Parts: sequence; structure tokens; C-alpha cells
Amino acid sequence: MISAAAHIELDLKALRHNVCRAREYAPQAKIMAVVKANAYGHGLKLIANYLAEYTDAFAVARIDEAVRLREANVQARILVLQGFSQLDELKLIQRYQLETVIHTEQQVDLLESEALVTSLTVWVKIDTGMNRLGIRPQQLAGILQRLQQCHHVQDEINFMTHFANADDIQDDKTAQQLQLFNQTIAPYSGLRSSANSAATIAWPETHLDWVRPGLMLYGASPVLQQTAAQLGLQPVMSLYSRLIAIKAVKAGERVGYSGSWLAERDTILGVVSIGYGDGYPRNAKQGTPVLIKHQRVPLIGRVSMDMVTVDLTEHSGIEPGDQVMLWGDGLPVEEIATYADTIPYTLLCGITRRVQVVTV
Ligand SMILES: *Cc1c(COP(=O)(O)O)cnc(C)c1O
Repeated sequence: MISAAAHIELDLKALRHNVCRAREYAPQAKIMAVVKANAYGHGLKLIANYLAEYTDAFAVARIDEAVRLREANVQARILVLQGFSQLDELKLIQRYQLETVIHTEQQVDLLESEALVTSLTVWVKIDTGMNRLGIRPQQLAGILQRLQQCHHVQDEINFMTHFANADDIQDDKTAQQLQLFNQTIAPYSGLRSSANSAATIAWPETHLDWVRPGLMLYGASPVLQQTAAQLGLQPVMSLYSRLIAIKAVKAGERVGYSGSWLAERDTILGVVSIGYGDGYPRNAKQGTPVLIKHQRVPLIGRVSMDMVTVDLTEHSGIEPGDQVMLWGDGLPVEEIATYADTIPYTLLCGITRRVQVVTV
């Protein structure tokens, strides 16, 4: 029995299925499963421990996330996508045997200043047009020369880049970025990685040696205009709560803070125990669907911290205590994201700590 009304159910079979889909999309490549931001809100330790058997490595954004993985006894290779930016971080990378991205000259300065004991695996990130992290193509030769002279950097240096627009299959920016990447690293050996989830699915030529899927592993569609179901992905997270009250509201009465919703007819209103304090988006629009007994019921009024209100007037057989699904298997998180003017990433990783986690 679940004690908290608001909870997520994590379907680990779906997770495994989605990794297999990633392998089917990119059969020649190794998989670095991206588990940053608490595994996109699903729970870092749980997800990584489960995935360890099915993936070749993990990627996280920051060092503290990687340290938490090691503390959870994850032995796999772990790449820190932001690398280090100060000496004590470099020491942690070494102590916990992490792999690091090199994306600026300052990191090379730090590497040269520090006598490390073990040798580091590095991934040099090339900025091919995203203009966020990464060195410019023309800096590469100089940086490689310096890295090769660091005794504590492994001889084989790997390369990566990141796409800005891979979710849009009409946009030729991805092909341009890939071409610049391939051209820049052509003179060198070393493993190459460029594909996020969208590129893993929609741009096969980007697969190279390692793919870095994140969102697709959790079963949401990373590609515009295509649903997860069309792509053969299954949602891992379903967010649930309960209907805690039903009441009649007369035409002309107002509901919620600042009375933002006005009943234009006599209305049967349901109160669901979920709100932005759980990570449900505060700006979910009027009409955003929730699922109760397989019926799509529309949201009305404002989302508050602990509750939302729904319109049950057109529905029958619904009672206080009924389970309510906010997104998940049968109600895609991508669809809710559209109603809330956001993307599925923010909804998944916005789940807060008071939401209980149940695995199925
Ligand atoms: C987050 C991230 C990924 C994964 O992106 P998805 O769109 O979730 O697949 C891959 N590579 C880098 C560098 C990232 O920051």
C-alpha cells in the first residue's frame, strides 16, 4: 500500500526496453547512458544500478553526481560532461576514477600544474556550432600537443561534440555540425561521440563510436513531431496521486487563488492532491488532461502547491479516493509539456523529494 498520495511508479522493464531500442537504433555504437539531474528525475542510484548491466558507461553533468554513483557502488566508466574547473575537482576526478571532458584551455593549465598519480581518460569537446561548451576547431592541434605531453593523460584521447538542433529532422544544422566535427578530428585516432537521443534516433551517421542517449532511455520522445510510441519507446515514469474531494460549484462561483476560474455552469469539481510542490507544472493550462479510471478529465483553475482542481461534470463513476494519473503510461509527458509550454525534460527532472518512488 502506498502511503503518500503523490507518487511516481518507475517501470524498470520499460527502461530496459528503451536501452534495447537505443541499441537497435545504433547497433555499431557503444552506449553511454546519460543519468544527469538525478537520472532525469527518476532517481540516480536506482536507475544507474539497474542500467549498469545494459550499458557500457554512464555520463553525468557534474562531479558530485559521479561521486554519488561511485558511492552507490557503480563500477562502470563514468564521464563527467562538464569536467573540472578547479584543482580540487581534478583531484576528485582522479580519486574516483572518473573520465573528464576537456572543453577549455584553462583545464589544460590545471592538468599541467598538478602531478597526478593515475592516468586520466579525457574526451576533448569540440564546439561545432552549439556555442556553449567546447574548444574551437582551430585550437585542437595546440591542445592535443599539450595533452600529449601530460604524463598523467592517457595516450588515446577521445573526441566529442554536441548538437544544437538534432530534434528537428528538417534542420540541416546537425549535418553541418557533424561534418565539421569529422573534418576537425580526421587527422587523429581516438574514439568519437556526438549523438544525444534525438541524433541516435534520427541521424544514423552521427552514431560514430559512442552514443549518449538520455531522454529516450526514460521513454519520452526526443524528436519533434514524433511520439514515443511511434519511436518504440515506453515511458518509465508514471506520476500519480488521488482525488481527495468532490464538490458541487454553482454557476457564477469562482475557484482557487485569485478566483481565476469562473464556473460558467453548475460544475462538479474534483480536487487532486498534486501541485507544483511535487513538480507538477504551475503553468499547466486550463484543459490539461489528467487520467481518472481511463477517462481524460480536464484541469480547471490554477495549480497550487499541493492541489489541482479538475472538472468532473461530464464524467460519471468517479469517486473520492480514485487514483489520478498526471502523466505516464497512457498520458505522454510530452503532451503535458505542451500544455504547460515546456519540454518533457523539465517535467521529468522537476519531480520533488516529497514524491514517493515505487518501482514496478
Ligand atoms: C544531456 C546531454 C546528453 C543527452 O541528451 P538527451 O537529449 O537527453 O539525449 C548528451 N550529451 C550531452 C553533452 C548532454 O549534455
